[in-house]
Amino acid sequence: MITKPKGCYDVTGQDAQIYKKIEQVVHAYMNVYNYKYVRTPLFENAELFKRGVGESSDIVQKETYDFIDRSGRTMTLRPEGTAGIVRNYIEDKLYGGLISPVKEYYFGTMYRYERPGLGRNREFTQFGVETLGSDDPLIDAEVISLSVNILKELGLDVNVKINNLGSKDDRDNYKTALVEYLKPHLSELCEDCQKRILINPLRILDCKIDGDKDILKSAPNILDYQSEESKSRFKKVLEYLDYLDINYEIDSSLVRGLDYYDYMVYELSYNDSLALGGGGRYNHLVKELDGPQTPCVGFACGVERIINLLKEDYNETNTIDVYVMAVNEEEKLKANILLQDLRLNGITSETNFLDRGLKSQFKDADRHGAKHLVILNSDDLAKGLINVKDNLTKEEVKVPEDEIIDYILGVL
Ligand code: AMP
Repeated sequence: MITKPKGCYDVTGQDAQIYKKIEQVVHAYMNVYNYKYVRTPLFENAELFKRGVGESSDIVQKETYDFIDRSGRTMTLRPEGTAGIVRNYIEDKLYGGLISPVKEYYFGTMYRYERPGLGRNREFTQFGVETLGSDDPLIDAEVISLSVNILKELGLDVNVKINNLGSKDDRDNYKTALVEYLKPHLSELCEDCQKRILINPLRILDCKIDGDKDILKSAPNILDYQSEESKSRFKKVLEYLDYLDINYEIDSSLVRGLDYYDYMVYELSYNDSLALGGGGRYNHLVKELDGPQTPCVGFACGVERIINLLKEDYNETNTIDVYVMAVNEEEKLKANILLQDLRLNGITSETNFLDRGLKSQFKDADRHGAKHLVILNSDDLAKGLINVKDNLTKEEVKVPEDEIIDYILGVL
């Protein structure tokens, strides 16, 4: 037997129902917030993620799925959605359009070679937005509130942790101070952090191993290293969130895993769950990928982690509107036509495809959770009538054949 690859999951049954529900809510919210749906390739030139996500990020260092195609090019299965959207923004010169900022969203599969565990898959789904071309804190607040509201609609009242990484200069000053502070304690840090201190010392702050150690608790605070401009931007974002009644907690150790963020970063979680999503501002990525200087902000949320939470108390039962019963050939011919009519009128309907007798069809209708039974019968059909039974009250009526759709629509 061939089994699924490690870290991958079949989305079936109840999970698939929840997945579909999440998709519906996401599309509906993106529509009213006026974000445009986009799809970019599942794989890109490896270079894009090296330069986009960042050579020093955990993702590029040890989590990408890379392969060499038949022409010898090195490709990477996308580990996140931002780099592809930014690549497309530059390649298609979307910065030259009449509408600015460009507001786009995606819903798709991502790949990271992580150690699989609860909430950590190798193939997983993210939805997210990117806004390209605005530096206004108003749009930071829109992005945060959009993500919070989608999760709220799904039944998850999430906690928002937010931090200010400041401008590049602020961060450089802070990094110098942090490295100075940590150098004498190097041997107390984990192996990864000993490397991080050289390539990306900020990441030490949210290291799963070292993060809670006292040395880090008394480390310099990034919020003390910000220019007036950075501080006032952040204040503005928080003020807008206050007006939207979005609760947040400022967490100065929040840095996020991708290298491209500056200024505001945030993360969403539910109770003490693993992060469900997060995002932030990235004002230099477009330029670093050879586009014009373009301020951007976005978020990404993980669908599987949301499913894991929602399925705890998900109990939607299977139902259909109508089950059509037919036994002989004449009845089956009528069923064939009637089913199409019902379905084209938006009525979810099913029939029996196993050539079973009536008794078995009644059972099958119950298994499908049919609300109404349409019991075709040659004698009634000869009189132009169709027998309809309410499967709950068990009441039966004979309806003229040409009124059947209106009748069903009326009782649903
Ligand atoms: P990131 O792109 O790392 O900021 O992740 C954004 C969100 O995607 C996280 O908060 C998770 O919900 C989800 N996510 C990231 N990596 C994984 C993974 N390996 N498996 C499942 N979900 C993930």
